[in-house]
Amino acid sequence: MKDQYGRTIDYIRISVTDRCNLRCVYCMPEEGVEQVAHEEILTYQEIVRIARLCARMGISKVKLTGGEPLVRKGLYSLVRDLKRCEGIEQVTLTTNGVELKSQMEELAKAGLDAVNISLDTLDAGMYASVTRRDMLDQALEGLKEALRYPQVKVKINCVPMRNVNEGQWTTLAGLSRDLPVDVRFIELMPIGEGRGLEGVSPDEALARLRAVWPDLHPTDERRGNGPAQYYAAAALKGRIGFISAVSHAFCAACNRVRLTSTGVLKPCLCYEEGTDLRSLLRGGCTDEALARAMAGAIRGKPPAHCFAREEGVTERRAMFQIGG
Ligand code: SAM
Ligand code: SF4
Repeated sequence: MKDQYGRTIDYIRISVTDRCNLRCVYCMPEEGVEQVAHEEILTYQEIVRIARLCARMGISKVKLTGGEPLVRKGLYSLVRDLKRCEGIEQVTLTTNGVELKSQMEELAKAGLDAVNISLDTLDAGMYASVTRRDMLDQALEGLKEALRYPQVKVKINCVPMRNVNEGQWTTLAGLSRDLPVDVRFIELMPIGEGRGLEGVSPDEALARLRAVWPDLHPTDERRGNGPAQYYAAAALKGRIGFISAVSHAFCAACNRVRLTSTGVLKPCLCYEEGTDLRSLLRGGCTDEALARAMAGAIRGKPPAHCFAREEGVTERRAMFQIGG
């Protein structure tokens, strides 16, 4: 469907949990995280009901996210049920990869189309300090397992940060030399824990990569659900992507909405406003009433985010509570 500014909204990010087995410094505080009670989290049946209505409105692509989606039991069954919804063309997942080794086979069988693995470094010590957990080996095993299923596209996502993982950008990009993966650099956003850290503009990261692959050049390809700008180089099998939400706002082409694990439909990342679908669902509303509430939220999507004026960011949830 179209929003009030004529943008086509065809993509929803659905968070299935706010729990996580890592504590990435830009996303989740080390301590003091209040866990949401299980009853407050949407059930898989509730998520599928919302997704079915989304599909009727023309939202054909779903990304499952979290917290860490693989810590929720039986995620494959949600993938399978979403893939069976008429009008849902693509179901993808973003994960830290730690639990992927044991779940990838079921996810692939369920019809998962693509997986993004968040990986900010290949150095075990640095990984432990960025994620506050010593789990690089498990994440890499997850990546290796994912690559056994050629029908599932694999991407690596890295958040480049000043004085944190600078030396690792070219190392991570080098994964696309040997493996059939795209490596994407996502600009740090001033949401939640991200506020206290210094991000790096994708332009700077690109310049750093060009020192190694001088022929990196932009391509017009669309290889995901979002606004990444992709670059190719002769020596790289995969592409290098840059998602510059802050320095090159792409709001005019924004195609997404978000559903939090507690059932809030959020039209824009940086504003707290959202529509509480859980109350409607649990209050026994009809599909028509639910669809009306969803359409209202989507139509009223704001024109642009406000990351440039930090005081304009009204969202107080952290990324793990939203889904990224
Ligand atoms: N746990 C899964 C993972 O890490 O992929 C899914 C949830 S995580 C919130 C989704 C994405 O948000 C990850 O790629 C993560 O790097 C990104 N993210 C978290 N906090 C961020 C921030 N402040 N700025 C930019 N990206 C962030
Ligand atoms: Fe967990 Fe993903 Fe947030 Fe890291 S980025 S703390 S893995 S939800």
